[in-house]
Amino acid sequence: MKAITYHGVHDVRCEEAADPSLRHPGDAIVEVALAGLCGSDLHVYHGRETGLDVGTVMGHEFVGRVVATGTDVQAFAAGDRVACPFSTCCGRCYYCELGLSARCTEGHLFGWVQDGAGLHGGQARLVRVPLADATLCRLPEDLADDAALLLCDVLPTGHHCASLAGVTPGACYALIGCGPVGLMTLLAAREMGAERLLAIDTIDARLAFAARLGGTPVDARRTDPISAVRAATGGRGADAVLEAVGSPAAGRLAFELVRPGGTIAAVGVHHEASFPFSPAQAYDRNLTYRIGRCPARSLMEELIPLARRRRDDLVAVLTHRLPLADGAQAYRRFDEKRDGCIKVAFAP
Ligand SMILES: [Zn+2]
Ligand SMILES: [Zn+2]
Repeated sequence: MKAITYHGVHDVRCEEAADPSLRHPGDAIVEVALAGLCGSDLHVYHGRETGLDVGTVMGHEFVGRVVATGTDVQAFAAGDRVACPFSTCCGRCYYCELGLSARCTEGHLFGWVQDGAGLHGGQARLVRVPLADATLCRLPEDLADDAALLLCDVLPTGHHCASLAGVTPGACYALIGCGPVGLMTLLAAREMGAERLLAIDTIDARLAFAARLGGTPVDARRTDPISAVRAATGGRGADAVLEAVGSPAAGRLAFELVRPGGTIAAVGVHHEASFPFSPAQAYDRNLTYRIGRCPARSLMEELIPLARRRRDDLVAVLTHRLPLADGAQAYRRFDEKRDGCIKVAFAP
């Protein structure tokens, strides 16, 4: 089959890879209709995350149809339309029961094979999905593949960010980063009633999209975000900061923007070894800091009505639809945020 595979830093290729096959009775094989290219794929692409085997199929967001199931799979059969979250889960362990599927004791990320162990990803024609009964989410026929693709990661992650921030009407929020996750955070926060939300970025297309969703765009190339947030809050700072980037600079900015007693909700993937503020600074700010990987699978069904209702906005995030053959170029374009690129969907 055709797949986009990892070959090293800044080196992904569309090439022939072995078709996956059923390996365990709980496995399913999904034929991919659409696969997402995600900001977290770029961590690997830039070498900020290391250890991936050469030849690993990239990607962790995909929707499609089940084409084969193992003997233990009961909830799905060939022909079923499904969306797959970025990691597997068992549906039975303490964390799955708690609604924290991101920390399932049997969870594995798609698109991560290291020393021969792990799972190939979704930027391919076919994907093997272990623990299929608990991992896959059935799609209603009236939810198209394009909107459903955002259920795999960015919509739940945005919803998670807004939930962690405890969004309520009346308060004033600052959003750091208007990429796909940031935009879905903004959409979710607005759905939860947020009225005043300053959306910080440096890319015109993303700032324009934030305005479309009801945010107040703050172009950090021209306006100091700290001054903008203080001006909007009587000098106090934001009631909560929604941090959707995952970098040391974003972490530090979040701390600068939050008011005393406020909350930072961070859902961007962080790799640094320490916080950008000290325990003493956090104490003196009465800071609440909430961070972590989104339990996407635990949220998917609940978000289907939102995906259906806001389909036009979701689909507009998918600015580029490309064949797998354009994989290398798509990674470059997405990374450089060229041509108004917000998010790429591959159609195998
Ligand atoms: Zn993703
Ligand atoms: Zn579990």
